[in-house]
Amino acid sequence: MRNRLITKIVLSYLALVAVAAPVLWLFLFGTIKGNFVDRLADNLNTQATLIAKELPPLTDEARLDGLAGNYKGLTGARVTIISADGRVLGDSNDDSSRMENHLDRPEVVEAGRSGWGSAVRYSHTLKIDMLYVAVSVKEMGPGGFVRLSMPLNYVEEAMTSITKRVLAGALVIFLASVALGVVLSRRIARRVDGMVEFTRQVASGDFSSRLRVDDQDELGVLASNLNGMAVQLSDKIDAITREKATLEAVLGGMVEGVLVTDRDQRVIVANRRLRETFGLNKEDTLNRPFLEVIRNSKLSDLVRLAHDKRELVTGEVEVQYPEPLSFMAGCVPLMMGESFAGVVLVLHDVTRLKALETARRDFVANVTHELKTPISAIQGFAETLLAGALDEKENARRFLGIIEANSKRLSRLIEDLLTISKIELGEVRLQMRPVSLGNVGAEVAALLGPRIAEKGIRLDVSIPEDMPRVMADRDRLYQVILNVLDNAVKYTPVGGTVTVSACVEAGQPDMVELLVADSGPGIPPDVLPRLGERFLRVDPARSRELGGTGLGLAIVKHLMKAHGGTFEMDNAPRKGAVVKLGFRAARDKS
Ligand code: ADP
Repeated sequence: MRNRLITKIVLSYLALVAVAAPVLWLFLFGTIKGNFVDRLADNLNTQATLIAKELPPLTDEARLDGLAGNYKGLTGARVTIISADGRVLGDSNDDSSRMENHLDRPEVVEAGRSGWGSAVRYSHTLKIDMLYVAVSVKEMGPGGFVRLSMPLNYVEEAMTSITKRVLAGALVIFLASVALGVVLSRRIARRVDGMVEFTRQVASGDFSSRLRVDDQDELGVLASNLNGMAVQLSDKIDAITREKATLEAVLGGMVEGVLVTDRDQRVIVANRRLRETFGLNKEDTLNRPFLEVIRNSKLSDLVRLAHDKRELVTGEVEVQYPEPLSFMAGCVPLMMGESFAGVVLVLHDVTRLKALETARRDFVANVTHELKTPISAIQGFAETLLAGALDEKENARRFLGIIEANSKRLSRLIEDLLTISKIELGEVRLQMRPVSLGNVGAEVAALLGPRIAEKGIRLDVSIPEDMPRVMADRDRLYQVILNVLDNAVKYTPVGGTVTVSACVEAGQPDMVELLVADSGPGIPPDVLPRLGERFLRVDPARSRELGGTGLGLAIVKHLMKAHGGTFEMDNAPRKGAVVKLGFRAARDKS
């Protein structure tokens, strides 16, 4: 690049010299030669006029070769004396008697007309250009002409000398031009090279360097403009980078899935949440057709509709893979000014909302059903009694017994529901203090004693004396253990075993675990993860028969959560169910 620039500048200098030197030479040569010949002609004219004044009358008989020879000696020019009719009367160089008539010579013709004349002709005798100047002689006798001629080899010599000087001058100018061209072009090339390097750096994203601005010539102005451009470019890129980072942070932090397609329905933006929803990675998502990336016909329809109609389209969408989720999808056309640029898809996760809605509906249905059963029984037997059964003593007692049992069940149900709703509303204030699991366990066991004895169940309570106390609300802890132990006794067949034990969890010295194991039927594996849901029963009829409300474990789960503890239920390795309750240990060991 550098060499090419230098070569171009030097060559243009050379071209200039190559054109200027011959033009100068031609111009000088013509002018100088013309001046020279004019001056010589003037001189010869003066001399010829002086000679003409000295001449004797030019009669036909005059023989003037000698005289002409004398004048040649004085003037240095060839002198020819011609009569008015053109005969040569005397010549300094030739024998005039043998010379032809000179009346037709151009200089003589001119002199005859205007007093003097000149001409340049090639002399075949001397083989050089000659200048001829003739003046007419009028003073004496019949008149005639005096002609002086000089070879122009003086002029040629002078011109040769001038040509040599011009050539020498041209050579000097040529060399000076080359030197100047090299120096100048090197300076320019150095500055241009600097700019080329600078623009390369800017193009590669490095905006740190600046061009030096020493001169205020065009290159200097260009350099300072380039510096200004780099500063502006750097500021703009910084601003765009900041905006992009902010946008990415916003999109990345959004709980909604966001995807943007371009006019050709290719994905240009897909935030983290959206990629997670569909199990996609970034590379396989961007710049690919939407239909290839998201294989969900409902979503594809929504995006296509928003794309075609250029208006907001919303709809509910179910996603099955990688996990089943429900979304509210909104597709908005993306407008850049007036023109359509693509579609923005926003997915709002409504899975939890839907689950809550379903749970609420189920709960209402369950509560209604649970309440309806005892109320129907109470109503039915009360009506029967009123209809006359009151008088049948035996039946009346039995019916009243059923009414009492159902009203008790109703009351238990309402009590349990109230407990759950209070816990959920945060109305249950726990009085947390160190409580001995052994003491509470013994109290519950005592309460259930008659039923345990009735069923012939063997109850083992083995809570070591030195077991750390747990942080709990004593009354609520009592309720939890009662619900769990009551279930164990309820579902364990006659003659079975129930074991209550406690231990400090391995690797977690701050946690105390209470285990209630029984030898009952255990829990079907598919129900295990759902235990703790309200009204969940493995065998509803049996549960009701046993006086259960289907809310016992839900209360346990809620209360354990409120205690900051854990609730887990599993099947024992051989037979029966095991409930594991994890409590935070109290700091003191007393
Ligand atoms: P319920 O009032 O019906 O006992 P719970 O919430 O206490 O309601 O228990 C829910 C269901 O879990 C019960 O209906 C029963 O099917 C099952 N279950 C609870 N504890 C046991 C257990 N120890 N052995 C077998 N099944 C149990």
